[in-house]
Amino acid sequence: MAVDDPFAPAHVPARPLHLVGEAEAGAAVGALAEPARRWLAATGFTARAGRLALWPDDDGLPAALFVLPESPGPWEAAALRQALPPGDWRIVAGADLVDPFHLALGWRLAGYRFDRYRQASEATPLARLVLDEPPRARILAEAVVFARALVDTPASDLGPAELEAVARELAAERDGRIEVTSGEALARDFPLIHAVGRAGARPPRLVDLHLPRPGAPRLVLVGKGVCFDTGGLDLKPAQFMRHMKKDMGGAAVVLGLARALHALEVAVDLRVLVPAVDNAVAGAAFRPGDVLRSRRGLTVEIGNTDAEGRLILADALALADETAPDLLVDVATLTGAARIALGPDLPALFTPDDGFAALLSEAGAAHGFPLWRLPLHEPYLRLLESPVADLDNAGSSRFAGAITAALFLRRFVERAAVWVHLDVYCWNDESRPGRPRGGEASGLVPLALAVERWAEARGS
Ligand code: MN
Ligand code: MN
Repeated sequence: MAVDDPFAPAHVPARPLHLVGEAEAGAAVGALAEPARRWLAATGFTARAGRLALWPDDDGLPAALFVLPESPGPWEAAALRQALPPGDWRIVAGADLVDPFHLALGWRLAGYRFDRYRQASEATPLARLVLDEPPRARILAEAVVFARALVDTPASDLGPAELEAVARELAAERDGRIEVTSGEALARDFPLIHAVGRAGARPPRLVDLHLPRPGAPRLVLVGKGVCFDTGGLDLKPAQFMRHMKKDMGGAAVVLGLARALHALEVAVDLRVLVPAVDNAVAGAAFRPGDVLRSRRGLTVEIGNTDAEGRLILADALALADETAPDLLVDVATLTGAARIALGPDLPALFTPDDGFAALLSEAGAAHGFPLWRLPLHEPYLRLLESPVADLDNAGSSRFAGAITAALFLRRFVERAAVWVHLDVYCWNDESRPGRPRGGEASGLVPLALAVERWAEARGS
């Protein structure tokens, strides 16, 4: 990937950048020197949020004024960077209008490009800002970039083995332990993961990464790692299969989150579970109507092989739950129904724990990464009734699909003190500042901030 160089040291000569709030923008423009004022009037500048004014300074180089909305967050900072001409800039007015954490986070994310497969990057360099980058902003931005790049990497170069390699690297760099279960042991101990992945030319596995911290609250992260989802024998239509390289987005998010939590030195005993599979079409594929016995013992009739995510998560959650963790979080690109309900930008949040729901919702809303809580409405479990097994993995109703998927997962969690499930999109269909079309690390930033606060509260 091209190395982005977002920040400039204080001593470099830099062009002046004025930040103003929308309400004060008219007055701010009025306070500029006469030539600048006349230039802006003559070029038809209107002081509305998101607008950038440029004028030639005394030395013939551009000076800039950017109009911020009320309470700007990281995406406004990203829009600013994208709008500015390349070169080094220094904020000369209005620096107090934007939180330095948001400014730095958005500014760095505006530089994300996935150009691994381009011969040469033809993109023009982006503006640099004279700023002492807050370390927390850098850590979170780098975690997002790391996860996005994994999602953007095509399935041809990112299968279960490559996902395992990413976790191994993470463990090696941080004195962690890693255990990987595959083959016959996987079939015996994690039958649902094996059943979903067994048709894949690349063998399925369960990756179990542990960054121990004795005495600290125990957190287990579980991330859906379907490296490509064809839908299995109940094959997906082409339009829905097109972006299924992103079906390991949950794994990417939890691996990025683990990096961030470690770098932030959050006091948790951290375990990351990634069931990594290809949901493929082949002679060995699991079939509609098959009945599978899960690790926990519950039997599942396969109503549709495209509802594979909840199957692999069920066995991973069961393993996590056996140790009764203090907090168990799973992240998964699980249902289209969550997107129908909430669209691409709002991860669906499920948890029986009001306290953690509030922590997560507040962290998201305050920092530009909102989520939305949906109910674990137990009566809807009837939609997953099977005539022959304990559960059907899909059910025949099209109603409440995100909720029934969450209820399915809940059947495999009993002992964890707090369980949280995020149903995420992990994709941007359109390009916006800081959020180019392609992979997204949905839920990563609010989870990092919420877990940080949760651990602080537990430790005090
Ligand atoms: Mn599927
Ligand atoms: Mn899937």
